[in-house]
Amino acid sequence: MGRPQHDLRAVTDGLYGRRPVAPRRGDESLRDDSHRPDGVQSIYRRLVEHSRDSFLVIDGNGLIVFCNPAAKTLFGGTVENLQGRHFGLPFGPDGASTPIELVTPDGQPQFLEMSASAVSWHGDTATLVVLSDVTNRRERETLTEIHTAALETAANGVFITDRAGKIKWVNDALAQMTGYTKDELLEMNADQIKSGDGGAADTGAITAQLNAGKPWRGRVISRRKNGESYTAEETTTPISDSAGRWSYFVSVQEDISERLRTQDQLVRLSKYDSLTGLPNRNQFMDRLQAALVRADRVGAAVAVMVMDLDNFKAINNSLGHAAGDVVIKTVAERVSKLMRTTDTLARLGGGDFGILLENVTDMAAASRTVRRILDCFRLPIKVEGQLLKIGASLGIAAYPKDDTQPAALMRQAELAMYQAKAQGGHAFKYFDRDMDADIRQRVQLESDLRRAIDNGELWLAYQPQLDLVSRRIVGAEALIRWTHPTRGLVGPGDFIPLAESCGLILPIGDWIIREICRQSMEFTRAGLPDLQLGFNVSGVQFRQRDLFQQVMSSLNRTGLPVQALDIEITETVAMERGGLAQENVDRLTAAGISISMDDFGTGYSSLSNLQTFPVRRLKVDASFVRGIGQNRDDEKIVEAVVRLGQSLGLTVVAEGVESSGQMDFLKDRDCDEIQGFLLSKPLPPTDFIRFVENFHH
Ligand code: C2E
Ligand code: MG
Ligand code: MG
Repeated sequence: MGRPQHDLRAVTDGLYGRRPVAPRRGDESLRDDSHRPDGVQSIYRRLVEHSRDSFLVIDGNGLIVFCNPAAKTLFGGTVENLQGRHFGLPFGPDGASTPIELVTPDGQPQFLEMSASAVSWHGDTATLVVLSDVTNRRERETLTEIHTAALETAANGVFITDRAGKIKWVNDALAQMTGYTKDELLEMNADQIKSGDGGAADTGAITAQLNAGKPWRGRVISRRKNGESYTAEETTTPISDSAGRWSYFVSVQEDISERLRTQDQLVRLSKYDSLTGLPNRNQFMDRLQAALVRADRVGAAVAVMVMDLDNFKAINNSLGHAAGDVVIKTVAERVSKLMRTTDTLARLGGGDFGILLENVTDMAAASRTVRRILDCFRLPIKVEGQLLKIGASLGIAAYPKDDTQPAALMRQAELAMYQAKAQGGHAFKYFDRDMDADIRQRVQLESDLRRAIDNGELWLAYQPQLDLVSRRIVGAEALIRWTHPTRGLVGPGDFIPLAESCGLILPIGDWIIREICRQSMEFTRAGLPDLQLGFNVSGVQFRQRDLFQQVMSSLNRTGLPVQALDIEITETVAMERGGLAQENVDRLTAAGISISMDDFGTGYSSLSNLQTFPVRRLKVDASFVRGIGQNRDDEKIVEAVVRLGQSLGLTVVAEGVESSGQMDFLKDRDCDEIQGFLLSKPLPPTDFIRFVENFHH
């Protein structure tokens, strides 16, 4: 530490280096005191001999002529007799004390204080050197410095007070926590940083405990300079003075306000939905459990409901998640208003809500609530400037009628909800035992469908499309059919959604692509003119990486030109921004394959999206076509869609044309093509070939 370090060995080497010179007076004791009275002399002698300090007398030649036992010990017994050896340390000025730092042979620092004073030694001038070992004191001092530095830099606030509570010392962290400067704090009493609103503990008890010498630990509410209060975890330890009284108190404060806030938030997160602030599924299940216990006590019933927004996924996919969030929030607000204080509305996830009605006296009352819930969807929801019409499907299970277990009740309510959805949505259904049977049937159908591909039970029906200008059949839409071994013909509406939900749509989709290419070759071989064959691809398939590959390899295998195919996609798929669906659409279009937007007008796509979307054909949904001649609004929509398609250079196809009146209306509006029962139902391939051959318009 700044001072010159002397290697003890060097000092003693200096001593070793010389041959011991015989002392002029071969005696270890201080002799030149003959003039002193004997008693005093012997006291001095004892003092020197027993002193812990080392005494050495150095003569004018720098040789040690006297040393006491402490000096021998100091130099480690390395030198048996120091006398006559050279003393290697430089003296300071007479009488002054010089700090000396040595290194012992085993490398430990040793701190000495050396004072030198001129003395007379047997008539000659000599120097009396006193060396005091201050290593221990130095260590203590260093430790104190370290402690202070540690407290100073500690992240927790530290302050020391006296018995009167006056602040005697503070660290930076306390200054930061309280907003006062250190100087301000040193002028203050500890009470002044206490908030006064009591905090956790009673001050009298704390003082008594501290005065008994016991540390105190607990929560306190403190106040910052700006008046804001904070909660701190504080430990105060009494420190006794030399008289043994507890006169200083060291307090360490940790500001835990932030931690408490995050804890609160975590509790909220684990129980509540962050978007709506409604209870989440966990909390809903807890409440359901509690509600069942309460209902038992009073002999009441509980209605457990699950509500799912219809087409919520489609909204999320086509308009984006922010839009989906708006819908969820609006629904949550509207339905909340209908709840009594004893009811619970929870968000279970996605577009799923849970509703708990307690104290239900009769199920008719529950039905009334459900109707009111459905009614509140009547008003469209405004999202990004568009008005969306949203529906919801609800399923209800009743306690104790249907089951007594929360999980079973939830499953039953869900089942009922699926039934409501399967029957067109925006409705509610009570759970009944038959639904379990429906589920078993579904499972059976699924396993049948798995075998259907290999058993050759699937086939494609073709529905012709007529060009209204050339009056020729220019294409057909392939529609899947399943001839079930026992049920007979099953329509796509009865198994495509099932196939989509269980993943079977992928092998089925793969089969369709191969089959349509094969069939197209058959049609050519049968002598039919070049036809564009459209087929439906579901969203699940579009989100598969290899869709593009599948289509291209089927085309390559059969040698069909890309113009031979047309892929029908729904608006939902078309509007998916980014992702694999978009990538597949882009790659297919780039390869020259035509894409049609199916069921146009029923989805949530905005018309402006059409401009940027690489679709070649627009299929006006049958529901609008059906209104031609009956509903002025539908006619206007058809007109508008046809005009829109034309302005974008798209081919407009009208679906579901059943009457010649509808056809004439469409022809007058310059619609390009029609498809529907007026021309033909979807036909098996051989019938289709015959139809095209015989078609004369
Ligand atoms: P889509 O693609 O809109 O097909 C048109 C549906 O309207 C067909 O019903 C067709 O038979 C029916 N249709 C055609 N003309 C008329 C008409 O004049 N009046 C009436 N009332 N209906 C008409 P289908 O075959 O039952 O198919 C229903 C839906 O199933 C299809 O709607 C399509 O979304 C889906 N689908 C059919 N085949 C496949 C397929 O191979 N793959 C996929 N992923 N979905 C398919
Ligand atoms: Mg279609
Ligand atoms: Mg369609």
